[in-house]
Amino acid sequence: VGHNQEGTGLFPATRLSEVAAATATAGLDALLLTPGPDLRYVTGYDAHQLERLTCLVVPGSTSQHGPEPFLVVPRLELPAAQASPAGRLDLEIVGWDETDDPYALVAGRLGDVGAVGLSDRMWALMVLRLRAALPAVRQVLASVALRDLRARKSPAEVAALLAAGEAIDRVHAQVPGWLRPGRTEREVAADISEAILAEGHASVDFAIVASGPNGASPHHTAADRVLQTGDAVVVDIGGTMPSGYCSDCTRTYAIGTPPADFTAYYQVLKDAQDAACAAVRPGVAAEAVDAAAREPITAAGFGQFFVHRTGHGIGLETHEDPYIVAGNAEVLQPGHAFSIEPGIYPGAHGARIEDIVVCTADGFERLNKVSRDLIVVAG
Ligand code: ZN
Ligand code: ZN
Ligand code: ZN
Repeated sequence: VGHNQEGTGLFPATRLSEVAAATATAGLDALLLTPGPDLRYVTGYDAHQLERLTCLVVPGSTSQHGPEPFLVVPRLELPAAQASPAGRLDLEIVGWDETDDPYALVAGRLGDVGAVGLSDRMWALMVLRLRAALPAVRQVLASVALRDLRARKSPAEVAALLAAGEAIDRVHAQVPGWLRPGRTEREVAADISEAILAEGHASVDFAIVASGPNGASPHHTAADRVLQTGDAVVVDIGGTMPSGYCSDCTRTYAIGTPPADFTAYYQVLKDAQDAACAAVRPGVAAEAVDAAAREPITAAGFGQFFVHRTGHGIGLETHEDPYIVAGNAEVLQPGHAFSIEPGIYPGAHGARIEDIVVCTADGFERLNKVSRDLIVVAG
């Protein structure tokens, strides 16, 4: 699998006009996007977040002849912006000098507007300076306009998520060899982090190694606990590929023979994860998938130990819309990609199984394919 996603349609030139139309439909005059996943989604430009303002302005428009989008960048970032995928778009790139006021520049070019959407991850520094430069303008979150577009992955985005899934699957395939009694969680996490990069990611996002009682804390990271025979070990790992798309996959392992009660609820968990995946198809509410995971766990008496939502959307961010959680009546659509990750955490140990799935035209596809059977390594 090639890692250079350029030219595969990940960031198509048509996206700017799609986003302009979504902005107008959301009742906004413009989106103001600083470096982060929104800017990358719209232009492909993976810009650094700096105190100097980089800001894409996309005026809302449903016509071919509406106001033109423009990208404001510090002069010293101009070559990088022009060399990025944004440089191949029909997009004016405006450099500002160290002595210019880039907020006044944005405000002046925007003109008389009523409401703008700011990227959800914009720094307060920039939110407040934009408010000062545009005092009469209402600020809302850009996700009002972008969330549906970003949540429905294109075939190229699904391919990028599949490549990320395959890369993290290759890491999981190596984990049994690193789980030996006497090693610490941190030592195993270091091996995993190295492999996340070696298998094609551009960065390591997290390497959770939670052994024994630490496994009962869903977001325990990795500590100095020494692995012991009889431990169950929750390994939840992910990174970001050069494409910008993320991986996230959990498997639970056992070192030697695990406690009998663990083995029993691991099977319940596996059945629940299968049931939740099987519930995924267009038209089903996100909360119904959460309920499908919860039902067998509750029926087996472990409901009180499943303490988090069933999943989260994934794409250019590890956690994004749609969230698979009770209370979210949002209906699944083809292209929605999210985790299915039920867990059971009784206290002395815990277990979680997580795959990324994508909603297809008539069901679902798992983007992680590494075995979900309990893997018992020699104690
Ligand atoms: Zn998480
Ligand atoms: Zn995870
Ligand atoms: Zn996750």
